[in-house]
Amino acid sequence: MTLLSGKRGLIMGVANENSAAWGIAKQAHELGAKLAFTYQMPAFKRRLAPLAESVKSDLLIQCDVSEENSAKKTITELSNHWSEIDFVVHSLGFSDKNELRGAYYNTSRENFRKTMLISAFSFTELAQASFPMMPDGGSLLTLSYLGGVRTTPNYNVMGVAKAALESSVRYLAVDLGKKNIRVNGLSAGPMKTLAGSAISGARGIFRHSEKNSPLGRNPDIYEVGNAGCYLISDLASGVTGEIHYVDGGFNNVGVSISE
Ligand code: NAD
Repeated sequence: MTLLSGKRGLIMGVANENSAAWGIAKQAHELGAKLAFTYQMPAFKRRLAPLAESVKSDLLIQCDVSEENSAKKTITELSNHWSEIDFVVHSLGFSDKNELRGAYYNTSRENFRKTMLISAFSFTELAQASFPMMPDGGSLLTLSYLGGVRTTPNYNVMGVAKAALESSVRYLAVDLGKKNIRVNGLSAGPMKTLAGSAISGARGIFRHSEKNSPLGRNPDIYEVGNAGCYLISDLASGVTGEIHYVDGGFNNVGVSISE
């Protein structure tokens, strides 16, 4: 028996082998979980399929969360294969990269709406759609960043969306607690991913966090994966509504020791 043996879960947000969602999927597979995946658009399936195969999964469902009813359709399709699931990992976000630079006050109405819908509300929709598949309890997990609770350069509307996402974690934890469904977030330090590189000055932020975090480095996707596996496992049976940092301790530093 390993930590996640017998558990089934849906992983959303693997774009490639550098994705945070992949770090979680790989570790969850090694700990015994059976996995299904979503991909945003048909072109992404080609990259996902061999990764999924390497963790013994061929259950791949297309889901663009910006589309109406996408969460419901995804869960309905999943229920054709599995009658119950134990966890869902939501590791996705989007904002127009032209607005992930410069001043936050330049955010457009259209991009504000799109960023909030894809990066924050999709988690709530997913919770709505998936909890009936967890009749004996389960776990929902999402990914956040420090920019949701403090300002970080150029993160802008994405930070506002992460604040909404983190607040959603707390509200959903209350709503679903009586059903023994736990809802948590991981706030990860900077990782070199497609989404990460869309933020202007990402390299500078990466280096700053690396230099100033107590561990002297940023997390890799597998460390994020390990923390995710803890939160979706029974080891965390008493934990819900939490935002758990996996950032080398960076969020705890007020003034760093100067060189
Ligand atoms: P990534 O580019 O590998 O993953 C982002 C995923 O979002 C992709 O799989 C993409 O297909 C998906 N996505 C975007 N729009 C979508 C839509 N409309 N419908 C469905 N899927 C959509 O990047 P990542 O860094 O692994 O991002 C995963 C999560 O981790 C995001 O929530 C991100 O904000 C968060 N995060 C990233 C970092 C970092 O430094 N990279 C740090 C903290 C948190």
